[in-house]
Amino acid sequence: MNISSNFDSGKIQVLDASDPQNIQLSIPKDTHSEHFQWFHFRVMGAQNQSLAMRITNANQASYPEGYKNYQTLASYDRKNWFRVPSNYDGKELHITHCPEYNSVYYAYFAPYTYQQHLDLVHQAQLSPQCKLQSIGKTIESRNIDMLVIGETDENKKSIWIIARQHPGESMSEWFMQGVIGRLLNPNDAISKALLSKAVFYLVPNMNIDGSIAGNLRVNTKGFNYNREWAEPSKENSPEVFHVRNLMDEYGCDLNLDIHGDETLPYNFISGIEGIPSFNETLKKLTENFIQSWIATCPDFQDTYGYPKNEAGKGNLAICSKHIGERFKCLSLTIEMPFKDNNDLPDPDFGWSPERSILLGESVLQPIYQVVNHLR
Ligand code: ZN
Repeated sequence: MNISSNFDSGKIQVLDASDPQNIQLSIPKDTHSEHFQWFHFRVMGAQNQSLAMRITNANQASYPEGYKNYQTLASYDRKNWFRVPSNYDGKELHITHCPEYNSVYYAYFAPYTYQQHLDLVHQAQLSPQCKLQSIGKTIESRNIDMLVIGETDENKKSIWIIARQHPGESMSEWFMQGVIGRLLNPNDAISKALLSKAVFYLVPNMNIDGSIAGNLRVNTKGFNYNREWAEPSKENSPEVFHVRNLMDEYGCDLNLDIHGDETLPYNFISGIEGIPSFNETLKKLTENFIQSWIATCPDFQDTYGYPKNEAGKGNLAICSKHIGERFKCLSLTIEMPFKDNNDLPDPDFGWSPERSILLGESVLQPIYQVVNHLR
């Protein structure tokens, strides 16, 4: 039996794998950062052998509570990811599983690899409605991909949706796959209507280098992009730097920033109540968006979430708050769970790529509800 992680988004350190009943693992830190939580590794040669693995540094991770009531993802074909029994004892995460095949992958959430990312943006560009652009280079000189969907027209609204500033939150790129697929479906009435009123600027992966490195929260220089929006730099946060410049150029009437939350087992929104410019109009737009989404998608809710910022106390280095203030527009952080949606639990799969895609499709409904009232 051997355990490896030297592949796209792989992350684990093997401490001792000599006894299948007592495999000791630890999660290495993100590059140039104290953060860690994401893991992704392959076990080879353990067919029909029951494995007891423990992640020995789970309680030192960025969000130890994220391992509470959490079940690890596993896959034999790298497409279908199912949950296997896991237990966090307050110190270690214990994972038990008897693989049915000779090779099996385990991960914190279903990965969305760089190859999948490239497939996503290239298949999208085949649509006559969609243009694939490179808006700059990442720190490791990869193209920063942006999709522009819809014919530009100065009377149309500019809608930005970006994802995966935190690279370990792979569900956010699955969500983008749903957004893109539905927008490009010529038979979808909501998409057609939306594209007659708005142009969509979509960045499905804001942190490609960090994703490949298997980081949870930062790029390969150790920068947390969702704290860079006040003063982004080409040297340390090029994705934020270029996206913010393009927002200044094309305008921004609605901004959605897609994330995953380690701890809360729900889908929810974090708003911009704390920004200086928050007013009655933005309040109404936020409520309209949330209520419309609740009414049309039972996987979304507004009972559980982060505490709302007090007036004027919002951190303007965070994307949604910075952009909300900069453009006086509706700007929201959308969070999905790593665990499951406890309102509609699924013990076999938990929150999954399929459900993330469907949630991404469904977000066009609240956008359609508010599009005429933006800014
Ligand atoms: Zn995040």
